Amino acid sequence: MESVLKKYFGFSKFRPYQKEIVENILDGKDSLVVMATGSGKSLCYQVPPLVAKKTTVVISPLISLMQDQVMALKQRGIRAEYLSSAQTNRSVHGNAESGQYDILYMTPEKACVLTTRVEYKQLGRLRDVLPNVPFVGLTATATEKVRVDIINSLKMKTPYVTIGSFDRQNLFYGVKYSDRSSAFVDELVKEISKYTNSRSSTIVYCTTVKDAEQIFKFLLEDGIEAGIYHGQMSNKAREESHRAFIRDEFYVMVATIAFGMGIDKPNIRHVIHYGCPKSHLSIMVLSPRCGRDGIPSTCWLYYARSDFGKADFYCSEARTAEQRKAIMESFMAAQRYCMLTTCRRKYLLEYFGEKYCSVNCGTCDNCTSSKNENDMSREAFLLMACIKACGGHWGLNLPVDVLRGSRSKKILDAQFDKLPFHGLGKEMPANWWKALADQLISRDYLVETFKDVYKTVSVGPKGVDFLNSCTPDHQPPLYLPSTSEMVG
Ligand code: ADP
Ligand code: ZN
Repeated sequence: MESVLKKYFGFSKFRPYQKEIVENILDGKDSLVVMATGSGKSLCYQVPPLVAKKTTVVISPLISLMQDQVMALKQRGIRAEYLSSAQTNRSVHGNAESGQYDILYMTPEKACVLTTRVEYKQLGRLRDVLPNVPFVGLTATATEKVRVDIINSLKMKTPYVTIGSFDRQNLFYGVKYSDRSSAFVDELVKEISKYTNSRSSTIVYCTTVKDAEQIFKFLLEDGIEAGIYHGQMSNKAREESHRAFIRDEFYVMVATIAFGMGIDKPNIRHVIHYGCPKSHLSIMVLSPRCGRDGIPSTCWLYYARSDFGKADFYCSEARTAEQRKAIMESFMAAQRYCMLTTCRRKYLLEYFGEKYCSVNCGTCDNCTSSKNENDMSREAFLLMACIKACGGHWGLNLPVDVLRGSRSKKILDAQFDKLPFHGLGKEMPANWWKALADQLISRDYLVETFKDVYKTVSVGPKGVDFLNSCTPDHQPPLYLPSTSEMVG
């Protein structure tokens, strides 16, 4: 194994987990490998065929990943080829049958020729025809549900499960907030132009094609050489853009999440999410596209509160209530990440079930900035007491409007104008109160619940404890950092 690693890949040591995984595959065991992007999953399936002198079939939906890997493997003298649905190649079939490949890549469609609509679930059929071939599932998505789904749908027999750490210590995580103004885009463009001086690559992920086109345009206008990549471009245009980026013909790629699955470019130093993404998985999976070589790299996210209003839009894609719930949960988790005032690394890792013990990671904005903490006890008291008095089954808008003294029909009908809190918070803008609510949510004083696509906010047990220790004239101290929304 070590000599194969050295001879073909030029590496002298296996990374954590790789050796055990390869050994298990060579022993004929099924394996499930859950490891972060960039941790070295590819070697786990590339080494076994070279040691065992048998063909490995790799099934991936990502044509660009297959092309990249086949190209790289061939350069190393490994006999690799790929079959995609876009290509019919009789000679590849013939060569494969006579065992002339070490590694043969194909799309799920090619592997399940019998079916028209292909899903990974149907790959389980392969198990019926190949009962004695070890199956290996590799993913960077670490939720329990995904793990169980893979094991079940590939009909794995007591698989050897490896769950690596998702902590990439060389990555810095940070978030910037603004409204969607031209000043916001200017700041982004300025930030990116700083990066291009150092000849390191940046990917800017946008949530819509429209945003991508806009940012792309602004960058060009600012004289920054950039490329663009999204799902509405032709295959050919996308391929060209991808290639040019890999070859450093430009240093900034503006893209939607259609770009970059399996991209292995060592000098990507920055990944920027422009807009709160649809799912926390985007933050988790796309951010580590940078810093694959272990050199410090940054993962920034720029968001505006208006991004949070897209829940309805995202949910409209759902066909069942269950799907809608899943979409909502992922979107919520992404929103929480945006609003977090505690360690971002800890949040991401713990979301995927990894315990992160350190109090201060030292490489996220919340751990490194010395934010001024202010005593917000009076404001927190007003907001929480008002939410409670309104019944705790509304979104944030209504209680905030009550605090700000609104006399809307809804408020008058419910007689909330008679509450003692009505109008007590009018000197602060609505967004200020919402930002305070975010802080209280991220510290578990307030609790968000979903009813269909609507969020309701109520006072959680910790908030109730706080309220119980308050009187209208006196509240115990409650220190919170002010976010940029609260500073203005
Ligand atoms: P993943 O598929 O998990 O996202 P890759 O397989 O693309 O990650 O590996 C990421 C990078 O790490 C690649 O550049 C690869 O060459 C490198 N790498 C993998 N294994 C080793 C190793 N044992 N020693 C040194 N570098 C390695
Ligand atoms: Zn941190």
